[in-house]
Amino acid sequence: MTGLPARASCVLVLNSGSSSVKYQVLDMDGPSRAAAGLVERIGERGARLVHRTADGGERVRETSVPGHEEALRLIAEELDTDGVGPASPRLAAVGHRVVHGGPVFSEPRLIDDEVLAEIERLVPVAPLHNPGNLAGIRTARSLNPDLPQVAVFDTAFHTTMPEHAARYAIDMRTADEHRIRRYGFHGTSHAFVSRRTAGLLGRDPSEVNVIVLHLGNGASASAVAGGRCVDTSMGLTPLEGLVMGTRSGDIDPAVVFHLSRVAGMSVGEIDTLLNQRSGLLGMCGDNDMREIRRRVEEGDWAARLAFDVYVYRIKKYIGAYLAVLGRVDAVAFTAGVGENNPAVREAAVAGLEGLGITVDPELNAAPGDSARLISPQDAATAVAVVPTDEELEIATQAFALVNG
Ligand code: ADP
Repeated sequence: MTGLPARASCVLVLNSGSSSVKYQVLDMDGPSRAAAGLVERIGERGARLVHRTADGGERVRETSVPGHEEALRLIAEELDTDGVGPASPRLAAVGHRVVHGGPVFSEPRLIDDEVLAEIERLVPVAPLHNPGNLAGIRTARSLNPDLPQVAVFDTAFHTTMPEHAARYAIDMRTADEHRIRRYGFHGTSHAFVSRRTAGLLGRDPSEVNVIVLHLGNGASASAVAGGRCVDTSMGLTPLEGLVMGTRSGDIDPAVVFHLSRVAGMSVGEIDTLLNQRSGLLGMCGDNDMREIRRRVEEGDWAARLAFDVYVYRIKKYIGAYLAVLGRVDAVAFTAGVGENNPAVREAAVAGLEGLGITVDPELNAAPGDSARLISPQDAATAVAVVPTDEELEIATQAFALVNG
């Protein structure tokens, strides 16, 4: 054999949910995307894998996928075909998105038995998310035990929140016994976007204060001071804060008692109501902002109300984080809705001119897929659209960890 051994420049990023696994292979030499895809409906009828190659090709397989092990084996087969499978020398690490890192994990960690056990101990505070993440980690380890596996936590960026922002005002002993506090989520996105926003302003992240509005199907806001998170809108779970696609966001906790006592609903039913049948979907029957805007344009009353409640909550958080930060250099919109919907951005900052926050109507309406400013040139506070890339952030953190 001649030639140099392939350099291990790629990271496989795995986002294992309860019934789906999303994956990407990123070549950090670019960085560029070497492959990406999704296995959905794991354990259900109609399971399938959709695999996209670097040159834009697509392969679809519809087959039975009883569990995460089979899902990862399918993914490994597709990646092998593209030369970036788990046994390939091009792979430097697997980066796992882990939703809940609790109070313990403030940074990405190389996964060993101890880290795995701690993620397992956090299952009671993240019953919907951590089990899927764990299944992905265990299977990926078994596919190639020699490949470094790195856990990147959604909560990590928020561990810098001061106690007065992270604590609920409840009995301390109960809170500590059950690890009840505000953790925050979407941390990789808030970290990535706040850093990119500083770059857009031509400044170092340590010099700027940014309000990040991550508006996807899940939605959260964060206040970032000099590169460190000082508050965020999600709490013990991703239910708190902004109005989301299917989640209520902030609500009087007594609504839960009321539904139990007066409507006779069980805890499970109330959980489903607030997490899956509330938010935009609960208010107007749609959770896709494109459809809601179409209905608003047609004069649909329910869609209008859902939109108004949605943007009003965002505005309240902008106001709160202005007070928290004192000085704000930029407000950054990101994720599916934040990146693509000018009407949401315009309505969320309407009336904030007196506080130095406003958008230029033309810049706001102009389509684009790269980071850009949408505020007038002379505005006191920059308003930006900054596409998020959680996979790239996970790959970057995992690659940095394994390369010392
Ligand atoms: P998640 O990762 O939380 O599933 P995304 O960040 O992909 O969510 O955002 C999904 C949401 O983004 C969709 O529900 C849809 O409302 C919105 N969205 C996506 N593309 C557009 C668009 N072109 N215009 C308006 N809204 C969009």
